[in-house]
Amino acid sequence: MSEASPRVQQLFALLASAQGPGYRSFLSGAQLARDLGVSRSAIWKAAASLRSLGVAVEALPRQGYRLTRAASSLEQTAVISALQPGTAARLRHGECRWTTTSTNADLLSRGGLGAGEFDFLTAEYQSAGRGRRGRRWLAPPGGAICLSWSWSFEVLPPQSGALSLAIGVAALRALGRCGITGVGLKWPNDLVTPAGKLGGILIELRSESGGPTHVVVGIGLNVGLGPEIVEDVAVTGNRATDLAALTPQPPARSQLVAALLDAGTTAMAEFARTGFDSFIAEYRDADVLAGQSVKASGPQDSVEGSAAGIDHDGALLLDTTTGRRRIVSGEISVRRT
Ligand code: ATP
Repeated sequence: MSEASPRVQQLFALLASAQGPGYRSFLSGAQLARDLGVSRSAIWKAAASLRSLGVAVEALPRQGYRLTRAASSLEQTAVISALQPGTAARLRHGECRWTTTSTNADLLSRGGLGAGEFDFLTAEYQSAGRGRRGRRWLAPPGGAICLSWSWSFEVLPPQSGALSLAIGVAALRALGRCGITGVGLKWPNDLVTPAGKLGGILIELRSESGGPTHVVVGIGLNVGLGPEIVEDVAVTGNRATDLAALTPQPPARSQLVAALLDAGTTAMAEFARTGFDSFIAEYRDADVLAGQSVKASGPQDSVEGSAAGIDHDGALLLDTTTGRRRIVSGEISVRRT
C-alpha cells in the first residue's frame, strides 16, 4: 500500500470528520474497519501511513483512533464558493485532490488557457512536491496548503523575473484579508515570520514559440505543521513555522485558498498591465533582508554583503566590499549571516 493510497485518504476523512470544535472523538478500530470494509490490521497500517505523512493520529487500546491536531479535508466547492465573483468568473477548472506528484507539474502539463482564465489545483499530499532546484516541499495532509494556479500571458511582461516577488506581495494581501499580519518576504520567494519560513512560492513557465506563455504559480503555505514536519524541515537546514504559531485560530483552509486565488489572479492581470512597478512599494515594506548582512550562494560562487533592497526589476542589491552587486532572481539562495 502506498503511503497516500485511497484507503489512507478514507481513514483521514473519517478521522477528520469526527473532530468537532473543542473535542476530538475516538473512532474504534472495529467501526473504522467496518466503515472502510477492511480488516483492523489494515486500519492500523493506514494509521501508520498517515503518521508517516505528518498527520497526528493517536491510537489507544480499547478506545480507538483520533486526530490530536485539527485537520480537515479541503473541498473544492467550499473554495469556489468563497471566491470573489470576479475571480469565479475567470475560473476554467478548479480541483482539490488528495494526492498528485506535484500540483505545479500537473498544471504545467495542461494547455489551452484563454486570456484572463485560470485553473487551480490543491493537493494534500504531493509525492514530488517541488521547491526550487528540485528541492522537496514537505506538507502534512490537512495541515498546509499546496496550491497551484495557471495563467496565460499573451506576451511575457518585461519584468517577468520579478513575478515571484509580486506574487509574494499578493500572498501578503491575501493573508491581510484573512486578518493575518506580521508576515514578511525574504527574497526571492519565501514568506517568513520571525519564527521561520511560513511558505514558499515557485513559478514555472512554458513558452510556445511566438505564442502565449503558460505560467504556473505554486504556493506552499504552512497552516498547522506539527513537530514531525518541523523536524523534517530542520534536517534540511531550514526553520519552518505555521499560521497556528501566529494566530490561535487560523482561518479555514478553503478561505485561505480562495483569498490566495483572488489576490493571486488579480496580481497576474495587474502584472500584465503594469509589470512590477505597482508592487514595489509593498515589497519594500515587507522586505526582511533590507539592511541585513547576507550571503547569496549560487552554484558556482557566493557573494557576501549588506542587503540594500531590490531594484525595479526585482533584483536583490548587495553592497559588498567591491561595490554594489545586483543578484538576479533564480539560482541563488540567501542566508542571513
Ligand atoms: P532557502 O529557503 O533555503 O533559501 P530555497 O528558497 O531554494 O531555499 P525553496 O525552493 O523555497 O528553497 O524550498 C525548498 C526548501 O524549503 C527545502 O529544501 C526545505 O529546506 C524547506 N522546506 C520544505 N518544506 C517546507 C515547509 N513546509 N515549510 C518551510 N520550509 C520548508
